[in-house]
Amino acid sequence: MESSHVEDDLVNILFTEAQIQERLAEMAVRIAEDYEGRDLLVVGVLRGAVMVMADLARALPRHVEMDWMAISSYGSGTKSSGVVRILKDLDTDISGRHVLVVDEIIDTGLTLSWLVNSLGTRNPASVEIATLLRKPEALSMPVEPKYVGWDIPNEFVVGYGLDFNEKYRNLRDIGTLAPHVYS
Ligand code: 5GP
Ligand code: MG
Ligand code: MG
Repeated sequence: MESSHVEDDLVNILFTEAQIQERLAEMAVRIAEDYEGRDLLVVGVLRGAVMVMADLARALPRHVEMDWMAISSYGSGTKSSGVVRILKDLDTDISGRHVLVVDEIIDTGLTLSWLVNSLGTRNPASVEIATLLRKPEALSMPVEPKYVGWDIPNEFVVGYGLDFNEKYRNLRDIGTLAPHVYS
């Protein structure tokens, strides 16, 4: 059973709200340096990346445009298959634009490698990825995020946009779920 206090359902806090903000601020400094003198469109991948987008974009000391995509990736159980469908496309024409895709976690990397290929066919000036978290399996995939918050072990994490059965996205910290939630 879930507790009525969402925080009680975490057995282990991996990253606190303060640690997340500090890391995003560091990433924002690098992004601002790398894109200096160029316009920048950040693309958040719904729904998980909502928190990362909001905080990363506000940490950027420069103008930035924000757009969103929603994609569904089919897979068995908790693993994605790489078969992806666009549920909500960009409102922005990205031809000639510098695009930074923002996501909260890369697990197998299948979803994002599909997305980057798909965006690449629209003649953008560049497409890069920023992700807060990356799991080990992604290291063997062709998808190479330019900005990574942390590499984490192969555990299922929730909070700060990351869900379990659509819950726990609103937690401020990121952690692993307590076993009592599953049983
Ligand atoms: P992949 O990189 O395998 O294609 O899939 C990435 C997506 O799987 C993420 O955007 C996220 O929705 C989901 N995902 C992967 N690992 C986790 C995890 O540890 N916790 C949660 N809540 N979602 C995850
Ligand atoms: Mg995501
Ligand atoms: Mg999910």
